[in-house]
Amino acid sequence: MKTQHIGVFIEQRGGVLHDVGLELLGKARELAEVSKGTVSAFLLGRDISALSDDLIAQGADTVLLADSPVLEPYRLLPYTSVLAQACETCDPDILLFGATRMGVELAPRLAARLRTGLSAHCMDLRLDTEGKLLQMVPGWGGGVVATIRCPDHRPQMATVMPGVMKKLVPTERSGECIHLSVKEDLHRFGPKVLEVHIEEPKEMPLEKADVVVAGGWGIGNPEGWAILEDLATLLCGAVGATRPPVDEGWVSESRMIGQSGKTVRPRLYMGIGISGMSHHVVGMDESDCIVAVNTNPDAAIFEVSDLAVVGDYREILPPLLKEIRTRLPEGRIDTCELPQ
Ligand SMILES: Cc1cc2nc3c(=O)[nH]c(=O)nc-3n(C[C@H](O)[C@H](O)[C@H](O)COP(=O)(O)OP(=O)(O)OC[C@H]3O[C@@H](n4cnc5c(N)ncnc54)[C@H](O)[C@@H]3O)c2cc1C
Repeated sequence: MKTQHIGVFIEQRGGVLHDVGLELLGKARELAEVSKGTVSAFLLGRDISALSDDLIAQGADTVLLADSPVLEPYRLLPYTSVLAQACETCDPDILLFGATRMGVELAPRLAARLRTGLSAHCMDLRLDTEGKLLQMVPGWGGGVVATIRCPDHRPQMATVMPGVMKKLVPTERSGECIHLSVKEDLHRFGPKVLEVHIEEPKEMPLEKADVVVAGGWGIGNPEGWAILEDLATLLCGAVGATRPPVDEGWVSESRMIGQSGKTVRPRLYMGIGISGMSHHVVGMDESDCIVAVNTNPDAAIFEVSDLAVVGDYREILPPLLKEIRTRLPEGRIDTCELPQ
């Protein structure tokens, strides 16, 4: 097997690392061990060199650091330019990005610049016997998992949703930090950021909730969502959704779970009126306990459920809510703390 040099783009904002970069470092480490290769973390921003030790502790052999005022805040064109230059210097065989808002605009632009391919929203990444990257993505409406290879062009590029891969536990490891030069005239490229407004979360963030009550097309109409909201509120949880209710505008896109939405691993996931297509299941099947309510006894979601309730949600949820209320002190939870 050919040795693979694996690069991971590390997303940070204001010096705070996004988890997805660390998750990808974990996967990159695994692939590097298989091919006896190495892992490089690509870290861009301003005053961020202190983050290098964390990246080495979590799997990187080398941190390629571009630290410059022109790289804060994030802007597409300067980041693409620095990453393209870094790829020319260190020539990675594989390059991984988180499928975040930043990653999904940066990775395709860089792939086009480097004249290589990119697989979006991979569920898994493996190496074949020659060391080439196998990129698993759901295809044909979620009915099959397609394996994509990029045989000729380098790097082999892929994006992965946050929460799909697992971070490594930090260990004491040694590594190297290489400073990349950044051209000062990069500030001239692309739109300028005049102001940044950070919105405080007003409701329970889906990815951090201990309980997720997710609704699907089987809810039937926007009014049906009220009972899901009630159940989620009672359990201090968050409401999630499949794609059809999002497409219909019943619920905002930020609530979508699955391959093109968020990945959740709550203690309790409740799937109401959801068939269980793989596009959705990849985003929730690692939940601790899965309860599904569906009128169809053969629904695929029951295959990943710990508790399968066959029936109409309009008949099942109202008595469930009543029962929960009778068991709660004063019939309700007063305050639910939003996780930081
Ligand atoms: C490239 C691509 C990416 C995609 N990404 C995502 C993604 O990230 N997330 C996602 O969710 N989907 C995604 N999809 C769509 C996905 O393939 C499925 O179409 C979708 O997940 C199905 O949603 P659903 O289960 O709500 O609807 P359906 O498949 O229509 O299922 C509705 C279910 O409700 C049940 N039901 C009906 N009435 C009731 C009732 N009264 N009580 C109880 N049960 C009832 C039915 O038996 C049925 O099983 C993607 C598709 C593509 C092509």
